[in-house]
Amino acid sequence: MIKILLAGEGGQGVQTVAKIITEAAQARNEKTSFIPSFGVEQRGGVSLAYIQIAEENIPYPRFETADIIVAFCNRAIKAIENYITDQTIFIYDSSAISDDFLEPIKSKVKIHIGIPAQKIAKEKYSTKILNMILLGALAHQLKFNLEEVKSATHKTLGDKFKTEEVEKMNLDALAEGLTLSENFDSKSEFVGSGKPEIKLEFSDDKKTWTRFPEHCKGCGLCVFRCPVKAIQFKKEVGFLGNPLPEVDIEKCIACGMCQRTCPDGAIRLEKK
Ligand code: SF4
Ligand code: SF4
Repeated sequence: MIKILLAGEGGQGVQTVAKIITEAAQARNEKTSFIPSFGVEQRGGVSLAYIQIAEENIPYPRFETADIIVAFCNRAIKAIENYITDQTIFIYDSSAISDDFLEPIKSKVKIHIGIPAQKIAKEKYSTKILNMILLGALAHQLKFNLEEVKSATHKTLGDKFKTEEVEKMNLDALAEGLTLSENFDSKSEFVGSGKPEIKLEFSDDKKTWTRFPEHCKGCGLCVFRCPVKAIQFKKEVGFLGNPLPEVDIEKCIACGMCQRTCPDGAIRLEKK
């Protein structure tokens, strides 16, 4: 019996990955169970998928610990942390999840595999298919070969591919994720390299306030919660066309509220 937990945000394709993996397992005549969980997501949480694959009938679809966890975003970490054991294989998007979120998890799991899915999707394919890259990595850990997952993808998504070009892009992304996992090396640069590449820093002699536009969705919580109104939206826009916040470092009292409030880990405050 293998228990798999996937966690990401709505729109990241978590449930699609779950359906394809379930399909691939069924094609091998294995028993499967799959429960999607959207309830938490509606309250600002994450989209979860619980999957089990076994040779025998699966008595109960829920589980308390996971053999494999796939985390798509910072917000997923809180949702998955109670499912971790020292035998868990932890796959995560190393270009979307900050080191602050990863460090406590990495020391607890059996193996951690950082796949820079968001970065690769953005640079080579489309951000909409970062899930296919993580699907490839998961498929490899489950010992599916590329053809098995491609076939399950076709069965699951069928005519949802609007053009041949879109289909090719999805399958190429899947193959790339599988290869990255196959070539996984704990010393390689993509393992645990959760540091966002693009950032904007404001410093004075007491603190440094950093914003990571790759993670900011422009929700405005930091602007709203800052007790001294030191944060405002500026004209610069983020990757989603969203407004980006900036700090007036002179006004900032280094309370850390913005860092704690940001649901996406897009702000870091360091006191000197
Ligand atoms: S650390 Fe506190 S005072 Fe400074 S910008 Fe963030 S919320 Fe505002
Ligand atoms: S930094 Fe975080 S809290 Fe502030 S607008 Fe961006 S996503 Fe929202």
